[in-house]
Amino acid sequence: MNPDLEKLIALQAADGEIERLNQEVALLPRRVAAIESKLAATRAQVEKAKAAIAAIQKDRKKLDTEVQNHQQKISKYRDQSLAVKTNEQYKALLQEITFAEQAIRACEDKILEGMLAIETQEKNQKAAEAELKQETAEIEKEKAEARTRTEEDQKQLADWAARRDRLRSEISPDVVPYYDRVVKLRKSGLSEVREDGKCAACNVMLRPQTYNDVRANDRVIACDSCGRILYYVPPPEPAPSRAPAETSQPAAESAS
Ligand SMILES: [Zn+2]
Repeated sequence: MNPDLEKLIALQAADGEIERLNQEVALLPRRVAAIESKLAATRAQVEKAKAAIAAIQKDRKKLDTEVQNHQQKISKYRDQSLAVKTNEQYKALLQEITFAEQAIRACEDKILEGMLAIETQEKNQKAAEAELKQETAEIEKEKAEARTRTEEDQKQLADWAARRDRLRSEISPDVVPYYDRVVKLRKSGLSEVREDGKCAACNVMLRPQTYNDVRANDRVIACDSCGRILYYVPPPEPAPSRAPAETSQPAAESAS
């Protein structure tokens, strides 16, 4: 194969690898950010449960005071009832006492509801706190992994960049700018040609003469249609035998 073609193929591989590594490096912080936002959501759940509990406890205090007020009223009415002169006054006081007792029962119902609600919220809080703990551990692990991975990628990137620079310096000086132009325009600078005689990238059939020239792989030829530099990939050679290599028995093939 023409040395320029050979190096162009290697250059394309290096460019592809550099691109892949750069994308990976860019993606790693995003993964950490995704877990961080999940963490923030769980933290908000914990806060929500805490706030709900605090609100119920505040209500509870109010309800306790209300109950006390009603109880005081009831004992006041009872004292008054001892001193009343008329039946009507007595009935009216009994009515007041009944109202106050009803109010106390309503408060007590609310207090019980509140206790149940606190139990539910405490369960929510516990669950969210457990999740938070797990997510915090996960994010630390994820961050450490991202750091290691980034360092490895950067090392690999440096290697690939050195390889790319070396290849570029070794390829004929007129070929490199052409390759760069096609890459800029088409994202890739090379295209395979196989038995079907088509440019694999743009799918256009080569002219017979061009196809013949490309098959030789002995010079740099561009696709008439897309401009990519063409190289021929011969069909894979048929495997000599499907039988295991160690026990090659000629009889086995004809027997099947
Ligand atoms: Zn083409």
